[in-house]
Amino acid sequence: MTIDRRHFLKLSLGGFLFPMVGCGRATPVTQEQMYVFGTTVDLAVAGVDRARADQAMRRVTARFLQMHQDWHAWKPGALVDLNRAIARGEAVKTDPSVIDLIRGGTAVSRASDGLFNPALGGLIGVWGFHGDEIPRGYLPAPERVESFLRRAPVMEDITIDGLEVTSANPLVQLDFGGYAKGVALDWALDALVQAGCDDAIVNLGGNLAAMGGRGDRPWRIGVRHPQGDGVIGAVETRGREAVVTSGSYERYREVGGVRYPHIIDPRTGYPARHVASVTVIDRNAGLADAAATALVVAGIKQWPAVARGMGVREVMVIDDEGNVQLSEAMMERVRFVGTRPRSITVPRGA
Ligand code: AMP
Ligand code: MG
Repeated sequence: MTIDRRHFLKLSLGGFLFPMVGCGRATPVTQEQMYVFGTTVDLAVAGVDRARADQAMRRVTARFLQMHQDWHAWKPGALVDLNRAIARGEAVKTDPSVIDLIRGGTAVSRASDGLFNPALGGLIGVWGFHGDEIPRGYLPAPERVESFLRRAPVMEDITIDGLEVTSANPLVQLDFGGYAKGVALDWALDALVQAGCDDAIVNLGGNLAAMGGRGDRPWRIGVRHPQGDGVIGAVETRGREAVVTSGSYERYREVGGVRYPHIIDPRTGYPARHVASVTVIDRNAGLADAAATALVVAGIKQWPAVARGMGVREVMVIDDEGNVQLSEAMMERVRFVGTRPRSITVPRGA
């Protein structure tokens, strides 16, 4: 773990988070950076003294490391133990935080009509995404994918009794990679409030949650351009909310000139293509995270209906040619910066 302290927000944090430039007193911001959840994590707290901010952030970073261990889909820990027991057809006691993830994950999976399906870890592994390195030039045999679909594991296969978990389907393998960061963000903001910090922003690898602001200025978040290095748009946060982005540019492999991203469509068993990124703003970071993943799967025609079903209103979808679609509510929130996108549309019903 590397922790790098700075007293003031840098002008840009990897293009994701930067303070408003404008009038108002400069408020000191205490900042910390670490590497966890396989990504860079930035924490910034404003409006409290350095000692309080440091203490609160230490608590958050320690808990993040624990979550990382307990919730990892393929490294030794509580979730991997649980997945092994499920594969053996055994009941097993697990960590209370995993129980919460299963309950929350089941609810958002249902709301997404199964497009968000964290029981599909086995299939994600078949596609070779359960490793730090993505194997090159490899595609799974179609029979392996089909055999998965035939016994399609879903969250409803799982039964919880206290801390004990069983699954009616031994193919269930939990992978909360599309949800856990959002849940961690919700937890982090709660913990910061409890520690007396009401103005903070947390960036988990491009997924952000913020509350309050920096003095009289809101936090300003840049949404990464899925096709370039820069930022496509900026959002100023209002009160407490999360801005979560899911993209097929994050992890993928290319075989024969075709890109196979890490988000799998549970209906076909194949990676969801054509959507480059989805950004969701919502008060609930866990929901925003699951929704962003589900809407990548839903695709450029179905996303408005799935967003409605999941109860998220502020959504921006960018296709692999750089066309932007957004909901009416999101149109009011995002300010496009840099080169204007090829097209910007609000589809009917969005
Ligand atoms: P995110 O960046 O939040 O979209 O999460 C992507 C991760 O979610 C992948 O790396 C997988 O671990 C997992 N995942 C992939 N496809 C799905 C899906 N259809 N439903 C739930 N989780 C998924
Ligand atoms: Mg997600």
